[in-house]
Amino acid sequence: MSAQALQFKRDARRLSADRRHREIINTALDKYAVKRDEKKALFQDWEGARQLAAETKWEAINHLDRYLEQFVRGLEARGTHVHWASTAQQARDLIVGIARSRNARSIVKSKAMTAEEIHLNEALEKAGFEVVESDLGEFIVQLREEAPYHIVFPAMHLTRGEIRDVFQKKLHDAPSDEPEELTMVARRVLRQKYLQADVGITGANFAVAETGMISVTENEGNARLTAALPKTMITLLGIEKVIPRLEDLALLLPMLATVGAGQLISGYNTMYGGPRQPGETDGPEEFHVVLLDHNRTALLADAEQRDTLHCIRCGACLNVCPIYRNVGGHTYGTTYPGPIGGVITPNLRGLQAWKHLSYASSLCGACTEACPVKIDLAHHLLQNRRNASQQKPSLWQKIAFKLLAPVANRRVLWILVTRLGRLGQKLHPLVLGKPIDPAYVWTKTRDLPPIARQSFKEWWRRRS
Ligand code: SF4
Repeated sequence: MSAQALQFKRDARRLSADRRHREIINTALDKYAVKRDEKKALFQDWEGARQLAAETKWEAINHLDRYLEQFVRGLEARGTHVHWASTAQQARDLIVGIARSRNARSIVKSKAMTAEEIHLNEALEKAGFEVVESDLGEFIVQLREEAPYHIVFPAMHLTRGEIRDVFQKKLHDAPSDEPEELTMVARRVLRQKYLQADVGITGANFAVAETGMISVTENEGNARLTAALPKTMITLLGIEKVIPRLEDLALLLPMLATVGAGQLISGYNTMYGGPRQPGETDGPEEFHVVLLDHNRTALLADAEQRDTLHCIRCGACLNVCPIYRNVGGHTYGTTYPGPIGGVITPNLRGLQAWKHLSYASSLCGACTEACPVKIDLAHHLLQNRRNASQQKPSLWQKIAFKLLAPVANRRVLWILVTRLGRLGQKLHPLVLGKPIDPAYVWTKTRDLPPIARQSFKEWWRRRS
């Protein structure tokens, strides 16, 4: 078992028994579900909207070469520097290099899961830059020296009291645990950081090929300040963020807000097309866009799993996942938790080391139903499990299938084994939960499904 799998098991066991943690998460997600359903009901045809969103992303991903080139042409025409990064290391080096070339000292950053994916903050801090997260949730988890807990709600696991405590400890300013007062404390600190910052780093929600523009949707206005105040702006995005047309945003932005946060539309929706143009009064003097691959092209080449690149990082699949709701976001030990993390992490970071995340699912299908772009997540989890076993079957799997094949291929043997199994099941309670139980590895944490009292053939024979 990989070190990552051991850590997952250990943390999952601890957190699923932590009732306080579960209460915090379930309270937050239950409130979210009410708002999401209210806003979904305002769509005239939600299923039709999902279908159209899925087709739009299908078109973008299946013509990614063409749309990426069109997107880059538009950006470069307005003086943006576009960089391509094949690996996480290349992306980090590029961004550190840009910051150094501008003699930067201080960097302000808005929320970007792609930056978490490549561990950008660590690289920038190691290179000597001060990096401050400007999204409130990200700012709080940065003060706690933690990774975001959720891809949309980074500090969802914290109570007001815990936020007050960290403000008191790190900022020496926390008059009470009232959300308004805590927000004002963060605002005072962050306003200074925006003014001091030499470089602003943002992510992107969508990259519009038609206009060569980046779309950022947010609720706090922090991404706007991050982009507008520092002299240099850097946007880091995965290549899968491209969409064909500007009008596609009319569907994708409300969908993202609805399933992501239970909102009709986010508070601030901004398009960035380049640095400050002659005659404009604000915006950065220099604008860099870093397009990250980091194994996305390997997913693109996989016809079976290509549609995982349709993901718009709304977090809806996490919110409905019974495993996520019990074990929490940090347990996954990677940037993308929940069902989408279970699907893409083994592909982005190594199948054998991360395959356990594909097994962290009851395959109930709630994620597939929740996904606004109709990614069949439950099916992809199964494909990962199959690929992992094919690539490196465990000794037990090899023995089990060697034994199963002759039995399953001989009717008489199959009937005999099934009958023995039924008999064995009657005696099973005598050893259940004890290490001498032959199915102990399974039964120590799960119920063993009973063998049917009769097979279909037996039932049919008796019936007629
Ligand atoms: S897989 Fe679907 S539901 Fe999950 S984050 Fe991506 S778009 Fe949202």
